[in-house]
Amino acid sequence: PPVAIVCIGMAGSGKTTFMQRINAYLHEKKNPPYVMNLDPAVTHSPFQSNIDIRDSVNYKKVMEEYKLGPNGGIMTSLNLFTTKVDQVMSILEKRATPDPENPAKKPISKILVDTPGQIEVFVWSASGTILLESLASSFPTVLAYIVDTPRSSSTSTFMSNMLYACSILYKMKLPMIVVFNKADAKDPSFAKEWMTDYESFQEALTEDENNNAFGGGEGEGGGGSGYMSGLINSMSLMLEEFYSHLSIVGVSSLYGTGIDEFFAAVEQKAEEFKQDYQPELDRRR
Ligand code: GDP
Ligand code: MG
Repeated sequence: PPVAIVCIGMAGSGKTTFMQRINAYLHEKKNPPYVMNLDPAVTHSPFQSNIDIRDSVNYKKVMEEYKLGPNGGIMTSLNLFTTKVDQVMSILEKRATPDPENPAKKPISKILVDTPGQIEVFVWSASGTILLESLASSFPTVLAYIVDTPRSSSTSTFMSNMLYACSILYKMKLPMIVVFNKADAKDPSFAKEWMTDYESFQEALTEDENNNAFGGGEGEGGGGSGYMSGLINSMSLMLEEFYSHLSIVGVSSLYGTGIDEFFAAVEQKAEEFKQDYQPELDRRR
């Protein structure tokens, strides 16, 4: 069966640009994916979608009709779309199996899903959960968590971003690849080091504290004392456990570097899905 890749990440992290890049890559490899856009608010999409939420719900009209703001509009659009999840799944399943009437038509091997810019709308809504659970019940499903690397290069922004990723992993219970995007603007090797070598992160923390990066007052920082550093120490121990379940890749969606590595991670995570996550999902159902 095809692997479903669901792209999530903070607004501006580069989900759409990343989708465009991996879509072009698969086309180049003569292995075109099936593409689904779940962002009702996107006005200009740089890639063609096979299923587009905008074809079935008009976000602007939804906002007017239900007198909603932007977030409510996205949430309600997603809810309206979710009423069609059975149709969507039967289309996907049809495209995933060989067509006896048209044997030349290759079944799809990848499903790409772009999600709304406002990550919390997808992650914390019933609709997002229903859509993901439906996907995962038919296909090996992996999350690609897109990180804006230049904006995550201080210890505090990095830690916040990783804690958020951890909460998503805990909520979604699907294998995750952390994609450090914008590698052209900031080399992600610092992140890989922090995630594999606890001491290197500790050193960076101490340095940031000494530079007062947390805005701490007197008596704080100075290496290993104070409320903030105690909290951070405990959190980074928890993150260490979280990191051990992740794949990490650095990419530039702009220039296309790191995409081979990303797809290698997808294969690995799809295997993990079958071995570890699927039995758990079946058990919960
Ligand atoms: P989304 O909100 O997560 O869908 O993010 P977009 O794909 O719309 O990208 C947000 C901004 O980041 C845009 O200005 C992109 O051009 C820029 N961007 C995306 N990927 C890269 C990258 O790999 N390198 C650089 N330098 N900029 C990028
Ligand atoms: Mg986008």
